[in-house]
Amino acid sequence: MNCEILAVGTELLLGNTVNTDAADLSQLLAGLGVNVFWHTVVGDNPARLADAVAIARQRADLIVTTGGLGPTYDDLTKNVLAEAFGRKLELHQDEADFLKDWFARNGTSPYTDNNLQQAYLPEGCTVFHNEWGTAPGCAFEADGVHVIMLPGPPRECLPMFRACAAPYIRSLSADVIFSRQIRVFGMGESAIEALFRSEMEHMANPSLATYAKFGEVMLRATAKAATEAEAEALCEPVVEKVKAVLGDKIYGVDVDSLEALCLEIMTGRGMTLSAAESLTGGLIGERFTALPGASAVFRGGAVTYCDEVKAALLGIDPALIAEKGAVSYEVAAAMAQGVRRAVGADVGLSATGLAGPDGDGVHPVGTVFVGLADADTVWVRELHLGSGRVRVRQSAANHAFDMLRRYLQKLPIDTW
Ligand code: ATP
Ligand code: MG
Repeated sequence: MNCEILAVGTELLLGNTVNTDAADLSQLLAGLGVNVFWHTVVGDNPARLADAVAIARQRADLIVTTGGLGPTYDDLTKNVLAEAFGRKLELHQDEADFLKDWFARNGTSPYTDNNLQQAYLPEGCTVFHNEWGTAPGCAFEADGVHVIMLPGPPRECLPMFRACAAPYIRSLSADVIFSRQIRVFGMGESAIEALFRSEMEHMANPSLATYAKFGEVMLRATAKAATEAEAEALCEPVVEKVKAVLGDKIYGVDVDSLEALCLEIMTGRGMTLSAAESLTGGLIGERFTALPGASAVFRGGAVTYCDEVKAALLGIDPALIAEKGAVSYEVAAAMAQGVRRAVGADVGLSATGLAGPDGDGVHPVGTVFVGLADADTVWVRELHLGSGRVRVRQSAANHAFDMLRRYLQKLPIDTW
């Protein structure tokens, strides 16, 4: 099934709002085996929206719209789509009752008559009741094209997709889609693709695709079959083959992130973590504590930016810093050991380096040392991460978590 996502909203064209719905919906649709071939953005203008619909229906079997379902005069998506497909809008009394009731319950603003507009939906459609806001979405089929309309706000659009649109799409095909996500750290997308290209070109079911993501690569094996078990069985040999080729560069299958994997393992083992951060300025701690359940593992950390604070808070000998420099193997090692000791954790992580754009006159920008210490040993990775402050800092945090997962998986730690 080929799909076009049609995002409606002048704010998207002006750049005031980023079209995150299209990105998120694309991922969700890919998981259902739907090929998203086009993203279109059009303003709140009926003539131009009608033009966009005329183009979309020629090339897509599924049109998913976002936005323009609300109560205001510029919310015109339903009117334009209904007219394009020759359907009248009809009042859904239960949705109208829900809206009145909603305003009574959420009494921040009074109910006004324009709200009733939201309860008008194309005749014969499947109504997607909005449990996350007010405007209902809907789906209908006309002239061999399926149309799904979702609200614009992501907090309504995405849950409605999962709860209502996904089952609708699944019901259109007898087949079940199953996919597995293989997460890789320490290899570029092109290098990985080169290893599998000839096979990927010839694979249809199951299929294998690579995606570069925040300094990591994800490979997704997807299969379609009559049952989930059969689709899963089709994926399995592909996953095994990728595992055999990439070995311990793979940190997990169907896991969310390096830090999520670390949290899971450490929670299971009752282990605790700490981090001393210089160039990452708290990023390691931030990413780890963003995970629910982090408090069972993360005891604390320190942002030790200048030399005196590294010495004072982490107990590092100022002479060592003076001799080796703050950006050094030795200081990264001492930071990891120092924070581990200071907060009483099983493992200490550290990161010190040059995020740029200014260098220190000794090391090139992007030179980073990342450390990991346990009670007995300390390991340090020397990295040359290139330029770009955001990228260097994120990459340093990635490496800290990769060292941690390799430590936890009992693999060599300072190499990758
Ligand atoms: P409402 O009932 O809130 O008016 P709606 O379905 O009419 O919902 P819009 O009026 O088009 O949606 O958009 C409401 C808000 O939702 C926008 O101001 C914007 O913040 C957000 N939004 C809309 N479309 C998108 C999108 N494609 N990606 C991300 N955010 C979006
Ligand atoms: Mg609106």
